[in-house]
Amino acid sequence: MSVDGRQIEYFMSKYIFVTGGVTSSLGKGIIAASLAKLLQERGYKTTIQKFDPYINVDPGTLNPYEHGECYVTDDGAETDLDLGHYERYLNTPTSQANNVTTGKIYEYVITREREGAYLGKTVQVIPHITDEIKRRMLLLGEDNKFDIIITELGGTVGDIESLPYIEAVRQLKWEMPDDCLVVHLTLIPYLSAAKELKTKPTQHSVKLLSENGLSPDVLVCRTEHSLNDDIKRKIALFCNVTMDAVIEAKDAESIYRVPLEMMREKLDQICLTKLKMGRGKEPELTKWKEFLNKLSFPKGKVTIGLVGKYVELQDAYKSILEALIHAGAVNECKVEVKDIHSEDLTPQNVDEKLKNLDAVLVAPGFGSRGIEGKIEAIKIVRTQKIPFLGICLGMQMACVEFARNVLGHKTAHSTEMDPDTEDAVICMMEAQKTITKKGGTMRLGTYDCTLDEKSKAYEIYQSNFIQERHRHRYEFNSDFHDAFRDNGLVPVGKNPTTGLVEVVELENHPFFIGVQFHPEYKSTVENPHPLFVAFVKAAKEAQELKNSSSKKVAASAV
Ligand code: GLN
Repeated sequence: MSVDGRQIEYFMSKYIFVTGGVTSSLGKGIIAASLAKLLQERGYKTTIQKFDPYINVDPGTLNPYEHGECYVTDDGAETDLDLGHYERYLNTPTSQANNVTTGKIYEYVITREREGAYLGKTVQVIPHITDEIKRRMLLLGEDNKFDIIITELGGTVGDIESLPYIEAVRQLKWEMPDDCLVVHLTLIPYLSAAKELKTKPTQHSVKLLSENGLSPDVLVCRTEHSLNDDIKRKIALFCNVTMDAVIEAKDAESIYRVPLEMMREKLDQICLTKLKMGRGKEPELTKWKEFLNKLSFPKGKVTIGLVGKYVELQDAYKSILEALIHAGAVNECKVEVKDIHSEDLTPQNVDEKLKNLDAVLVAPGFGSRGIEGKIEAIKIVRTQKIPFLGICLGMQMACVEFARNVLGHKTAHSTEMDPDTEDAVICMMEAQKTITKKGGTMRLGTYDCTLDEKSKAYEIYQSNFIQERHRHRYEFNSDFHDAFRDNGLVPVGKNPTTGLVEVVELENHPFFIGVQFHPEYKSTVENPHPLFVAFVKAAKEAQELKNSSSKKVAASAV
């Protein structure tokens, strides 16, 4: 189709759109990822993309209070945290193209308008914005890379800002009726006073969708109680879907159970039938089930302190928490995460606050708030030989702590927090110094790193060459390289081209590793990240050691 000289290309893929109704936070991302997992298991090449209706060009500049964690892809896109779920479920990387925002759409359309691409026409939401949305919705179908592309639409039906997206889907469905499917996620609330499940909010949200010309093909109903056939029939009748397309999504104890629940409810089968596609092979999910089994029946428990300034926010450290769950399953132990607000830590209380922890993870972050608390925590874990993993800012603060308390540079700091420090152990990367724009300008995405073969990191990764994802502006100052190495905090991982220090580890410590990159982004159910696996293992060993020494003390007291 040609629009103002522009071509929208149509590909052979099938498209499933996931919309949400009634309330936000129903877990569209998890439903989309679960459906994708089942389709992938059936042998279909499947991917998921997220369209977010906000005007920020990407979530990279958004505060975690607003939007939770910013997830980073291999190709350096700062994206919505749902992309993390997609990767963790599908075990395949996503990219820049998998996350589109209204800001991106408008930025592109306005740039083209300035270039004169619309040939004097009035540029409007319809058709220009909707066409650009459509073009991007179809784009992953290029080169037949995927059989099925699932598109999650952010927001809730009825939001003004979602309208162009709904309209774009309506048009695509009209143009390709056999290749598009709409799955609507909704809520069936339970009124305990009436002891009844209520379908009215769902009816209303489907009505809202149909007012915009779109009718769902499948309804996924979040509920606290099972839906009996009568309720399903009622929903089907009033929402104009077939009864087998009313899918129950009961609250699950873990998000990782949802693919199995959706398999039981045949969500994948109904989608394939409606798309006139074969069923493929029956999903086995062998590795997935093994993981769930270990997750559900842990043999022990470790407690890991997560030191950060956003710990009260569920979503701020999403990928770290998920990576710890994956690593816990490998180690067959439950990982209990104790949130430690770095702002609350003082030299007086830090000992007490870190008491009884089996390991400590100091989180990534930006800015000064809570920074001294992080440094205090690191001093304790270094001197008391508590297993420690420092990620990005956590690694940088491990270097600051070491410079201050071991090398004796009392005012050492990162220039991010103290631009005038005389001992800038962490300083802004050369390439960053001329950058003034904020969005998408950090050192982002995957970079190579070579590991010293005598290091613990090498032992953990079982390789001297690794690739990890980054998101930072500051780096270890190589002027301090030799002093650090000679005094025991050894830079063991470096970027082979730039020499930037990516990994430091402390000698004579059971586990003290700081990484400039974000290993958490690469941990998946089927490929738990080795660094997290080793870290949880170290926590387990620390616990065993504590237990055996306290037994010895008890025995000697008898
Ligand atoms: N603020 C630090 C930097 O920009 C660390 C960033 C992070 O932890 N992701 O280098």
